Order: sequence, then C-alpha cells, then structure tokens
Amino acid sequence: MGPRQQGRDAKHSEHAETRGFATRCVATTPNDCTGAVVPPIYLASTYAHPVPGSCPAPAPMPCGTNEDGGHSYQRWSNPTRAAVEVAVASLEDAKHCYAFATGMAAIAAVFSTIKTGQRVLLCSSIYGGTFQYISSFFPSRGINYDLIEDLNTLRPEQIPADTAMIYIESPTNPCLRIVDIEHAADLAHSVGAVLAIDNTFQTSYLQRPLDLGADIVAYSATKYMAGHGDVLAGMVLMNDEHLSEQVRLAQVALGAPLSPFDSYSVIRGLKTMVVRMDRQMENAQILREFLTNHPLVERIYFPGSTSADEAAIHSRQSRGDGSVLSFNLAPEVDISKMVAALDIIGYAVSLGGVETLICHPASMTHASMNDDELAAAGISKRMMRLAVGIEDVNDLQKELDRALKAGAE
Ligand SMILES: *Cc1c(COP(=O)(O)O)cnc(C)c1O
Repeated sequence: MGPRQQGRDAKHSEHAETRGFATRCVATTPNDCTGAVVPPIYLASTYAHPVPGSCPAPAPMPCGTNEDGGHSYQRWSNPTRAAVEVAVASLEDAKHCYAFATGMAAIAAVFSTIKTGQRVLLCSSIYGGTFQYISSFFPSRGINYDLIEDLNTLRPEQIPADTAMIYIESPTNPCLRIVDIEHAADLAHSVGAVLAIDNTFQTSYLQRPLDLGADIVAYSATKYMAGHGDVLAGMVLMNDEHLSEQVRLAQVALGAPLSPFDSYSVIRGLKTMVVRMDRQMENAQILREFLTNHPLVERIYFPGSTSADEAAIHSRQSRGDGSVLSFNLAPEVDISKMVAALDIIGYAVSLGGVETLICHPASMTHASMNDDELAAAGISKRMMRLAVGIEDVNDLQKELDRALKAGAE
C-alpha cells in the first residue's frame, strides 16, 4: 500500500485569501481548542490507534492527517509539519505544499518525478547543490539533461520532444540572471512538460511562479523563510493533483520530511520574513550603489544587470531584487587578504538570513564545477557573492571598504 494522498487545504479560514501577505506570514496560529498562539511541537514518532484499522482521533489542526482523519507515523504525517505546510501554501495560494528536511531533499523530490529516458532542460548557473545532484544522479538514472545559456530566446520548436521538465531559477545563482517564467512555462507546456522553479532567492513575497504558469515551486526554506541561520528546510508547492501525489510519495518513501522541531522553527521565521526582507533589500540597495562606484570592484551583478531585456522581464515578474548581489574583484585585490580583514561579515555560504555573509562561489557554492563549467555558467574566479543581512548598513559599508582596501595592499 502506497502513501495515501493528503490534500492540504491551504486556507486557514474562509477569509484567508483576501488577507495581505504580511498578515498571512504571521497568521499561522492553529485553530485548536487550547487557544495557543503558536502551534505546539508534536514530537511523537508514532500515534496509537484506538482499534485495529482506525487512526487516532482527528487532530484539531486543519490538515496533515491521513484519510481516517488522524495521524499514524511521523514520516507520514505530523501536526507541526502540517501547520508549516499550510502556512507556506497559503502564502502562495498553492493547493499543496510538502515540507522536507532540506532544500536539496525538496529538489530531489521534484526530480524524483522524472523517469528514465526523459529529458530535463535547466538554466545554466543553477544552485551548486542542484548541479551536483543532476551531474551525479541523472546519468545513472538514465535522464538526459541540457544546461541552457539563455532560455528567454528559445522557441517552442527548439524544445526536444522527450523533455519532461524545464527547471529554472530566477534570479540565478550567483550571476543573478533573469529567466522569463511565463515564457519558460509556455516552452514546457508546448511539449507537455512541466515547469519547475527554485524560487528561494525571491520567496512568494517577491515572486509568485504558480501565477505565472509554473507547475512546481521549490524552496530552500533554510534561507529567507527560516531566516536565522539555525535550521535547514525545504518546501515544494504545486496545484496539480498528479504532481502532488508524486511529490507526496517522495516525501514518504525517500524519507526526508521536515522534523517537528524544524517545522516549528520555520513557522517562527515566517512571521518576521516580510520585515526582515524589507530591511535586507534596503541595505542591499545601499551596498549595491556603494560597490558599483568602488574602484576595487570590477563588475557588479544584480537582478537585471546583464541586459535591459532581463531587467524588463524581472520588473514584470517580480516585486523586488532580494538581497543577494555578486561582484568581481579588481585584479589587485587578494581574496585571502580581503577575507582576513572581515569582522562582522561572515565568510560563509548561505543567504537570506539576518546576518550578512560573503562567499567565493568558484571554491565554495560551485566547487563541484570544473573550470569549463564555471566559465559556461559565467562564474569568474574573482567573483564574490554578498548576501546582505539586517545589520546597520553603515557598519557593513565601512567594513567592505576596509576589507577591499586591505586586499589591495
Ligand atoms: C541553499 C539553496 C538550496 C539548497 O537548500 P538546502 O536547504 O541547503 O538543502 C537550493 N537552492 C537554492 C537557490 C539555495 O540557495
């Protein structure tokens, strides 16, 4: 017997869909009998059945139960995980959401829907872990794939007939290239394929891919959603019932659902996501101007920086730029010396959290790429990626200036 389909009703109440985004982020309170203002963390690995063949009494929370209305075993369902799934689905008006232990587990679940002999087209310059997954597992699973430099100029007749999925990010990582989501959806649908998008860099606050024609949206909730650098989590959202069944099967059978405690951590993070992101974007805008004019910075990358076409697409499909930007150091800046001069800013991968982090994509996030692959993805060895946090921006600006100068000494 396979896992049973568990339709997850995204709406907390009949008024939920008229609520603003920030309200939905906060209003994750369970409608249970205790009046608790936050969902409890249900740690139980298993639930006792009253009589053989039945499930325990229905949970008071609106979802995440099996078809008998109760819970059975934590890998199958858990009330705290269900609460975060409902909350994240409601942010994007998605019919279904499944929470995973990490963003990569969520992405692996998305790719589990692809069968041997099928093809996946991906935008080049994808998240390093996703590249590691496809280059390690697609060949042994007999899945063909192509990395496409510019999906925006591709026409439907150029899409191979065996394509089952187009997989994109926009903005991409770390070059912040823009992929036209509506166009990518049209390309996918022209051959009966699905469009999947990793929307981690935007969140549903800034960009709503399901509304633009995407069929599956994946998130690393480790980033903006959780937001405090203390939890890994992943989400997969969709409206389609068949895709939902397949991703639900992956959640159960591949065995990487989000733990109850981490589910709670994401719920807490979501409540402040809007205020965090607003501040992060404000800081990022100031640092972007500062770095653009800095003599020791050769080139800067932000959403829309590559071309006017991409800028126009981005402003059409997104409400903001997020808080990640990349820049190439001038040749006289020594990366080690620059990093050694940092104090507040952590030299670390990750993004979307309260703390500002800087990393070197070629040796960190994209270390699994060889030189040719890096060049194809447009990633210079002199590129740094800055993920801006919520600190006092004057401190960040002073520190970047000091570190750049120390690197050039
Ligand atoms: C971090 C990240 C992932 C992977 O998420 P984990 O939670 O680290 O597994 C996937 N995609 C993007 C764009 C990311 O930034």
